[in-house]
This record gives sequence, C-alpha cells and structure tokens, in this order.
Amino acid sequence: MTKFIFVTGGVVSGLGKGITSASLGMLMKARSFRTTNIKIDPYLNYDAGTMNPYQHGEVFVLDDGGEVDLDLGNYERFLDTNLSFDHNITTGKVYSAVIEKERKGEYLGATVQVIPHVTNEIKERIRRIARDYDVVIVEIGGTVGDIESMPFLEAARQMQLEEGRENVAFVHVTYVPKLKVVGEQKTKPTQHSVKELRSLGIQPDAIVARSEDKLEESARRKISLFTNVSEEAVISAYDVEDTYNVPLMLENEGLARYLTKRLGLPEREPELERWAEIVEKYKNLEESVEIAIVGKYVKLSDSYLSIKEALKHSSVANGVKVKIRWIEAEDIERAGARLLEGVDGIIVPGGFGARGTEGKMRAIQYAREKNIPFLGICFGFQLTVVEFARNVLGLKDAHSTEINPQTPYPVVDLMPEQRDLNRLGGTMRLGAYPVHIKPNTLAKELYGKEIIYERHRHRWEVNPEYIKKFEEAGLVFSGIAGDDERRMEILELPGHRYFIATQFHPEFKSRPFRPAPVFHGLVRAAKEKKGI
Ligand code: GLN
Repeated sequence: MTKFIFVTGGVVSGLGKGITSASLGMLMKARSFRTTNIKIDPYLNYDAGTMNPYQHGEVFVLDDGGEVDLDLGNYERFLDTNLSFDHNITTGKVYSAVIEKERKGEYLGATVQVIPHVTNEIKERIRRIARDYDVVIVEIGGTVGDIESMPFLEAARQMQLEEGRENVAFVHVTYVPKLKVVGEQKTKPTQHSVKELRSLGIQPDAIVARSEDKLEESARRKISLFTNVSEEAVISAYDVEDTYNVPLMLENEGLARYLTKRLGLPEREPELERWAEIVEKYKNLEESVEIAIVGKYVKLSDSYLSIKEALKHSSVANGVKVKIRWIEAEDIERAGARLLEGVDGIIVPGGFGARGTEGKMRAIQYAREKNIPFLGICFGFQLTVVEFARNVLGLKDAHSTEINPQTPYPVVDLMPEQRDLNRLGGTMRLGAYPVHIKPNTLAKELYGKEIIYERHRHRWEVNPEYIKKFEEAGLVFSGIAGDDERRMEILELPGHRYFIATQFHPEFKSRPFRPAPVFHGLVRAAKEKKGI
C-alpha cells in the first residue's frame, strides 16, 4: 500500500517548501523506501516552458523533455533520481485533460464540475505515479487560502478519506517570525494558517516551523496546543548555512521518524553518511576560486539555480570553494569587460532574446583572448559561435537569426523544419538526446565516453554551412548530435586553457555525487589558473 505525504504551505511563500519536500523524500529514500516526489503548481499554465524566469526562477528540463518547475530539479538532486513530466501537475494540465474528456463525451452527459471531475482527475494523476512506490511526497505549491490551490487541497482531503488515514499524512510548512522589539517568536500566523487548513477539512500531522533561530520550547508548546499537533511533530526548521544541511537538520528534528511511525511504516535507520560527508566537506573548504556568471536574469539567482548547484557539486569534488560573481550582461555593454577582471572562470548561460547579447559576447571574447577558463551553455554556446565568426573569421555583423534575422552571416540559424514560429510552446528541441563525442578532444577527456545523453532546450543551431570555415580557423566541434549529424553539440578551442561550450544544458544532470563533467572541468581549470 502506497503512503502519501502532502506538503502544504502557510503564511507566506518562499519558505523553502520545495527543499523541505525534497529533503523529506531523501530521508524516506535513505530508509530504503521506494520514494518519489510530485510537485503541484496551481497556476493555469500548462507547463513552466512559457514562463519568464523572473517569476518562478529557472525552467527545469527533464529527460523526457518536460519543462517543469525548478523544485523538480531539487527533487532530482536530493533523491538522485530521474523524474518524468507527469511528476509536475498543473491546473493547466488538469483542466485540459478534463475538457478533452468532456469533448469526447466521456462524462456521459453529466454536468462537468470541479468536484468531482477536476478532483478525480487530480487524484488519478497522483495515483498513476504512486503505483511503483512505497512513499509519494506531494508538494502543493502556493499558500493555503489561495483560490487556485483549492481543488488540489480538496483532492488531497478526499485521498485521505479514500486511502485511509493510516496511508495519508499532511505536513504544513509555516513561518514563525521573531519580532525584533520584543525578541519573541510569534506563533499567531501559524495558528491562523492551520485554522484555514482545518476549515478545508485537513488536519496537519506535522508542522514544519520555519524560523531564523531554533524554535523556542514555549513556541513549540503553543503551536502544538493551538493546532492539535503533538509536540514531537512540531518540527523546528531554522535557517541553515546551506540547503544541503536541511535533510540533516530535519532528521535531527525527527520529522521522517515521526511520519514513518504515523504511517505505520517499519522504523529504519536512514543511510545518510555519504550526504553528511559532502556537507562536511563543503563547509570546510578553505581556498576559493571566483567564477563570473554573465547573464540577463542575474538579479534573481534562482533563474540559474541548476548552474549554481552544478558549481557546488564541482566545488566539493575539486576541494575548492566557488564564489560567484553575478554580472548583468548589459552592465558589460556599458562599463566594458573590466567588470570581469580578476575572475578565475566565466560562464555564459542559456537565454532568449536580444537584451544583453553584445555584453555576453564581450565576456566570451575576453575569456578567449585572455586565456580564462570558459563554459558557454546553450545560448552561450551559440554566442560563442557568433563571437568567433565576427572576431576570428572577420564576418562583420554575423549573428544568430534569433537576434538579427537580416544578418549577412547567419552563423546560428533555425533548421528548416523548425521555422514555424507561430507556436512558441512545444516547438523546441527538448529533453535528453544522444551526443557523439570525438576522440582526442577535451570533451572526450571530460566525459570519458563516446556517447552521452544530455538535456536540451533550444530552437536555434549552428548553421551547417559555416562549419568548415570554423574548423579551418581552429574551432573544434567535439560533440555532434547522435540523432542528427547536422547539429553541433559541443565546441572547444585547443590551445586555450579551458574553453568549451555546449548546445545542451549540462547543469540539469549534475548531481551532488556526480558533478557535470564540463562544470567539474571548469572549476578544475579555474583552480589551476589560480595556482591552487
Ligand atoms: N534562444 C536560444 C534558442 O532558442 C537558446 C536557448 C537557451 O539558451 N536555452 O536556441
């Protein structure tokens, strides 16, 4: 019998419900329960693909090409697993499925309603995934009380009725602020939020109380009393240095232990040594390198979450701290490449649209000419090609047709079959595709394999007509798409300390115990450059 744990949020958003859910999943998996995580996003978008990273942070991409909420990235990294598009349930997906069924006449003349048709659809989607697992953690996005999340909370409530109380538990993540003047932790917002949840028929089994400092005993008692949750299930989740500490903190606080008991699962000691080891290693790094990320969404660092994480994985593996210098590409356009002075490595990440492209190319040129370790990703790969065309091949005004459709040298262009741009959703090359790696290249040395599978999210490609010219000038295309040899996947520049760019997004597959090779190589090269 599968056990379900629903994670809801109260008071404010941004409390780290995603990390709490990922950690809980990890703690269950560490107890050898077959565990998975589902994210519910109550917005009307079908998926995260068309959303601006400024609102929800990065769009994460799965093997199957699903463009999903960044929490799925956290789940994949914390549980060291690969998820599918079905693990992200949105209002958009649920309603389209319901309307499609209605059009096909599947409801046999019934009036189609939120209850039961929409709630049934939600429950079905959760149960479909549950089949192969002992424990399923379902995080419900948003905060309790939002109109959008109502059908999901109702579906969760029904699931407890149908699956039995012993098989469904609720964890509510809330905020316990400390008022500076009185210096006291305030439990009232938590009380209110639990009241709201209970008015929807859901009694939480555990409260994860987010606060700056450890929860005071008096606050714990009060929360327990007012929310009807036993004291041992009021979990203090105080601020920690790094998200990797969260599973260990929650384990200490007894969250998973309590939930296994509550759900009648056998009590087991979790296997957390390896995780604790990297947390310890990460904390004790002494020397550091500085890597610049030159992007266009740098004000919200969650826009580049997986890149940050990939750097962290490589940092532990290389035994050196990585400091990130966030640089807005447009600032380089104004102030010049001096903003990059002193960095040990440069990343130009993925992106869309014209803003900041010239600044990104200045950064690429700087890395190329000054022999600074460089990694270009997706749009960063394409702009590396454009920069090379302009400044090495001398093709003035060369560009990607995404940015300048009239360019005399369209060195980055759409493949003929991808030219219908009227539909922006669903026309990209998405998800994992094979890449063939050429022998005797940096790519081969980094990956140690001839065929790799990496995740993609793009439309434009290096224009095949220019490839020979690039190669004659010394650029090496060391990775070619395994399914279509017209498509270039990796480029590198022999003779440079470390200069590599990928059409795919290596950051999405980077894991704490398995850093993405091109990130690992970047940090290693930065370290060497600095003489560490
Ligand atoms: N805008 C580019 C394309 O669509 C790159 C996309 C990206 O960086 N993810 O091909």
